[in-house]
Amino acid sequence: MRPDTPAAHTTEAERLLRTAAQYPGDREPLYLQAAAHRELAGDRPGATALYDALLSGEPANPLLIRALKAANLWEYGHEAEARAIIDGIRREKPTDATPWEFTAETLEAHDELEEAESTLTEAAGLLAKAPATDLPHPTRSLITTRHRIRRMLALEHDDWDTLADRLHPAAVPLDELHDPKRLWSLGSSDPAELQAEITRLRSELGTYRTALSRPFPVAVLHWPEPELDELLTAYPELEAEYPTYRAHLTDIEASLRELAQAGTPNLGIVRATVPSYEAFAASESTHPSNADLLPQYATTLAARGRAAAWPPAQDAACWCGREATYEECHGSADQD
Ligand SMILES: [Zn+2]
Ligand SMILES: [Zn+2]
Repeated sequence: MRPDTPAAHTTEAERLLRTAAQYPGDREPLYLQAAAHRELAGDRPGATALYDALLSGEPANPLLIRALKAANLWEYGHEAEARAIIDGIRREKPTDATPWEFTAETLEAHDELEEAESTLTEAAGLLAKAPATDLPHPTRSLITTRHRIRRMLALEHDDWDTLADRLHPAAVPLDELHDPKRLWSLGSSDPAELQAEITRLRSELGTYRTALSRPFPVAVLHWPEPELDELLTAYPELEAEYPTYRAHLTDIEASLRELAQAGTPNLGIVRATVPSYEAFAASESTHPSNADLLPQYATTLAARGRAAAWPPAQDAACWCGREATYEECHGSADQD
């Protein structure tokens, strides 16, 4: 894990921009991730410059980029411009949940809770007409954000809120996580203690929001069997990571389930190949036998937009490539 300092984020942004120069076809996801790192480094004008560079071309997701740009602008004193962008996005009624969610989160971050709620309710009406469990990940995330904001507004649960509770995978129930008043039930009568609890709770919600606020998946590597054979023949040092192909597959499913259990949203699998891994090692000026490189390679593939979302639907093909549905294959309850 890289240290979470402004300098580290600036370095990572530069690395991603170099990768974008190498892979112009993947420029958009790489620029978006570089912009996210510039924001984390506190370089908000630098992030705006990247959003503008994308918007001046023909981006695949203009509404998403505009939503990110509005969020960023509002953070450094450009409220009027941000609001104008947000109004424009709402008028265009995005068909994907993510621009809606970012827009609502920006409003929420600036205490416009009612407006955030009405934005998400409009989106839910368009994207999840009938509350159902087989919604795509971004729509589920939107329903979860809507649940949080409605809890803060002390609104009664509706069908979408009940669905959000059902979809929530982590150990802490959503109602507890999203309950701004849960600390009162702790019964402390010391105002300082309560204030500390409020601060802690806010930062917890903030972390949760940040985790949801970026479309980039947390991705694990999948080496198809011939690629894994080739990798281990060329770099036998990596055998400690990958004892057998079967164990590799089991590991992938187990790590993703663990991440999902811990409440990590937006998970994915990236397909690794030996030539692209060698090119990545060269671009990082290191040798492919260096196992520390593997997670960075996964992150870079994900930044390039190469991740397939996990889990697949129960009746969709399994991610491992075998001719079986996910439910029959690695998605079965007793996979070994
Ligand atoms: Zn609930
Ligand atoms: Zn499988």
